[in-house]
Amino acid sequence: MKETLRILVVDDDELDRMTVYLALTQAGEKIELSEVSDAKTAISTLRRTTYDCVFLDNDLPDQDALSLIQKLRDSEIKVPLVVITDQGDEQTAVELMKAGATDYLAKSRLSSATVTQVLRHAMRVYQAELQRDLAHQQLKESHEQLLRKNQELERQQEQIQLQNLKLLEASRLKSQFLATMSHELRTPMNAIIGFAQILLRPKFGKLTNQQADMVERILNNGKHLLLLVNEVLDFSKLEEGRLALQPELFDVAKVTHTAVAEMRSLAEAKKLSLIVKINIANSLIFNDPVRIRQILLNLLSNSIKFTESGSIWVELQDLGENRVAIAVRDTGIGISSQDSQHIFEAFRQVDQSITRKYSGTGLGLAIINSLVQMMGGKISLESQVGVGSLFKIELPRKVSLSTSNQTLAAVDFNGKGILSSPQNSHPSPSQTSQVSMGFPHLKL
Ligand code: ADP
Repeated sequence: MKETLRILVVDDDELDRMTVYLALTQAGEKIELSEVSDAKTAISTLRRTTYDCVFLDNDLPDQDALSLIQKLRDSEIKVPLVVITDQGDEQTAVELMKAGATDYLAKSRLSSATVTQVLRHAMRVYQAELQRDLAHQQLKESHEQLLRKNQELERQQEQIQLQNLKLLEASRLKSQFLATMSHELRTPMNAIIGFAQILLRPKFGKLTNQQADMVERILNNGKHLLLLVNEVLDFSKLEEGRLALQPELFDVAKVTHTAVAEMRSLAEAKKLSLIVKINIANSLIFNDPVRIRQILLNLLSNSIKFTESGSIWVELQDLGENRVAIAVRDTGIGISSQDSQHIFEAFRQVDQSITRKYSGTGLGLAIINSLVQMMGGKISLESQVGVGSLFKIELPRKVSLSTSNQTLAAVDFNGKGILSSPQNSHPSPSQTSQVSMGFPHLKL
């Protein structure tokens, strides 16, 4: 069943109004017609009632169709508008359309066919316009929403940046505090160690066995404490970018032997054999001997600390012309692949409980990792729980001076060391050049 269309005809000529009405009804449209004869009444009628279409005469007695259309659009009255124009008045028609008329029809062409065609067309155009306006409105709203979200994100970003600055400042203060404290602690520690050593010298008078034993304990504990304090100082210096390498030409085999000799008594105390293998033709390298010794002592003391029985090997090896490898391997408790991911990070220990069995600051490997990076080398780990660990460092024979003076801003304390372990052994490309460190009897 056809719907009934509500039509308003605005025309001061009754005959014209009748013509429109007849044309529509003859075309078979079901219509409910309202008629007004001037613009003013048209506006008030349209304010009150909704119509499906308005037929509007171009020449109204109180104003022309153009200003009426503008008024309707200004008052946001939306309705399909068809203007009935005089024959040949195309220019006016264009202006009317521009102002907001939906369509126009010359009076001379008024017939049932044209009227119904123009009516349907105007209604379709109007519907399309409504949909376009709706889509436009929705777009506008989502644009505004996006703008609001953007503003919110920008505000959050500013807050995060502010928090970041605060964190950086807190971290800087912490590093400064660590540096100052460890520096302050070193002076009295050195005095304690120095006086303990003097007391043990026979020319200062003979101590009883019990007294000598106690002074030795003071000395050993003092040395251990100094080691820890030095670690904290190094860490804070590295973190602040104040640690630079002092490279020189030296014999790495000699430094290795000295470091091993220093640690031998500790290994012997735990009945561990400590084996050195120097498989290197030319042991002269250009690097910082103090830092190489520090790395060796650190790896060795870890191996001794975490090994209850068996052996520890230290090996030097040539890696082609320009690189050398230093490796420390043990038959200790080993490290799981999961823990391996983190132990190069500062303050990370496999056992982080307060009641842990092994002492330490958790800084040793982070410092080693940073130093190795500064030297332009890399460190890798192979380990298996209950079997043992192998820490391997590959270094250039000659550190570049620019790298050695690099500050820690370039060194990464999240400890992204190169890890590999038998449980998780898909070596990265940098690891495929790994050489066998020559411990064939120790299968990791
Ligand atoms: P620290 O030894 O002071 O705790 P490190 O940074 O030197 O700190 O080592 C971090 C952690 O890595 C140790 O706490 C330990 O859990 C693990 N680790 C290091 N070396 C070995 C090793 N040779 N065998 C087993 N675990 C080790």
